[in-house]
Amino acid sequence: DKRRKEEVSRHQQILDMAQAHYVAQLKLAQPAIRYLKQRGLSGAIAARFGLGWAGTDRRGLAAIFPQYEDPLLVESGLVIEADDGRRYDRFRERIMFPIRNTRGKLIGFGGRIIGKGEPKYLNSPETSLFSKGHELYGLWEARAGIRSAGHVLVVEGYMDVVGLAQHGVENAVATLGTATTAFHIEKLLRASHTIVFSFDGDTAGRRAAWRALNACLPLVRDDVAMRFLFLPTEHDPDSYIQAYGAEAFRATVSEAMPLSRFMMDELASRHAMHEAEGRAACVHEALPLLAMLPEGTLRLQIEREFAKRVQLTPEELSGMMRDAPPPSN
Ligand code: ATP
Ligand code: MN
Ligand code: MN
Ligand code: MN
Repeated sequence: DKRRKEEVSRHQQILDMAQAHYVAQLKLAQPAIRYLKQRGLSGAIAARFGLGWAGTDRRGLAAIFPQYEDPLLVESGLVIEADDGRRYDRFRERIMFPIRNTRGKLIGFGGRIIGKGEPKYLNSPETSLFSKGHELYGLWEARAGIRSAGHVLVVEGYMDVVGLAQHGVENAVATLGTATTAFHIEKLLRASHTIVFSFDGDTAGRRAAWRALNACLPLVRDDVAMRFLFLPTEHDPDSYIQAYGAEAFRATVSEAMPLSRFMMDELASRHAMHEAEGRAACVHEALPLLAMLPEGTLRLQIEREFAKRVQLTPEELSGMMRDAPPPSN
C-alpha cells in the first residue's frame, strides 16, 4: 500500500545518503586508501564498485542524519540499538562495499576491517530490502561482463569480485557469506545459462562447492551448464589472479569440471570404491542426490555413468531409485 511504499522509498533514501557519506569519507581516509592500494585496487575500480569508508566515530552517521534517533535508521541496519537504548553506527573502521539488487538499487552493505579484528567482514542485517539468501554481490555491476563472457562466475567474497574486475574479469558475483541457495541459482540462471563456481581452494571452499552443487541439482537442465573450478589450496580467485594474472585464471575457468564429474568424484572420494561395501555405501549416499535431478537426458546420462562406477547396471540403479524414499529437500 501507499504507506509501505513511502517507507521503502525512505529506507532507500537513507541507504543512498549513507553510501554518499561512506564514499566521501574514503577520499579523506589515507589508511583506507593505502589498504586498497596494497590489495592491488586502483581508484578507478574502487569508484566503479562504489567502495567507501566508515570512520572511527561511534555516531559517524549523525553527521548526515540529524534525526539520528529515527527508527528507520535502525530498521535499515545502519544503526544498532543497544539493550540500554543507546544507539551507534553498525559499521565503523571498515571498507564499505555497497550491495545492489538486480535493478541497481542499493539494498545493503558489506564492510571489511582493515587491520586485525573480528569479524573480518560484517554485513547489513536482514531487512525488508535485504536478504542474504537471495542476493548476490556484484550481479548488477557484472551484468555487461556476464553477457559478453557468456557465463557467470560465482566466488565467495567481495574482494574476489573486485580483485577479478581489477584484472579485467568482470563477470564475477559473490554469495554474501552464506551457503548458495536455490534462490541464488534461479537468479544466476536468469543472468546466464552457464554458471562456473570458483570457491576458495581450502576445505571451507570445497565444502561450499558441495553445498552449491546440492542447490543446483533440482535446477539441472539439458540447456544449462554448471561447472566447478578448484584452485590450489592456498588460493582464492583474488589471490590467484594477483599471483598468476588474468590469462592463467581464464585458463583454469575454461578447464572447470562439469557438475556431473564433481558430483561423482566427490562421492567416490568418500567411499572405498574398490570394495563392495564401499560401493554400496556410495550408492546409498548418491540415491537422494540423483533423485533431486529433474527428468531429462542429462539425468539419464549421469545415472548411467554413476551406475558404471558402482558396478551396477543402469536398470539395477533405477530400480533402487524407485524404491528409495523421496528426497527431503
Ligand atoms: P579477504 O581477501 O579480504 O581477506 P576473503 O574474501 O578472502 O577476504 P574469506 O575468509 O575467504 O575472505 O571469506 C569469504 C567471504 O565470506 C567474505 O568475503 C565474506 O563475504 C564472508 N565472510 C568471511 N568472514 C566472515 C565473517 N567473519 N562474518 C561474515 N562473513 C564473513
Ligand atoms: Mn576462505
Ligand atoms: Mn581473499
Ligand atoms: Mn577467500
